[in-house]
Amino acid sequence: MKKSIGMKSSYILTQKSIDCEITKISAGNFALGYETKSGLFVVENFGRSDTDLNTEIKNWIGRYERFKFFYASNAKSAFVKECKNYHAFDKKKIDKKTHPEKPNNSDYDCPYCK
Ligand SMILES: [Zn+2]
Repeated sequence: MKKSIGMKSSYILTQKSIDCEITKISAGNFALGYETKSGLFVVENFGRSDTDLNTEIKNWIGRYERFKFFYASNAKSAFVKECKNYHAFDKKKIDKKTHPEKPNNSDYDCPYCK
C-alpha cells in the first residue's frame, strides 16, 4: 500500500519510523493515538519538545500506536500550540490531564488560560 505524504498523515510509533520522518533537530509538537479502519486518526495524547522532537517522541514508543508531528520555529510557538491543544480537547478523551509546562527558563504565559 502506498503511504500518503503530508501533514495529515500519521506514522507508526517505532524508532525506525520516527528517525525516517523526523529528520530535523527542531522544536515541535506531536499527537499520539491510533487510526480507525476508515483512516481517521484518533488523538489520545499530545505533547511538545522545546529542542528535539525526534528524541521526545521516542519516550512514547510502546504506549501508543501512531503519531503525527509538526515542526515549530521555536520553543515559544511549540508551547503556545500545546496550550491551544490542551484547552481545545475534551479532557475526558485525552490522556493528558495536566496543563503544559512552560519551557525551561522562560516566563511565557499560556494565552488561553483565563
Ligand atoms: Zn492554559
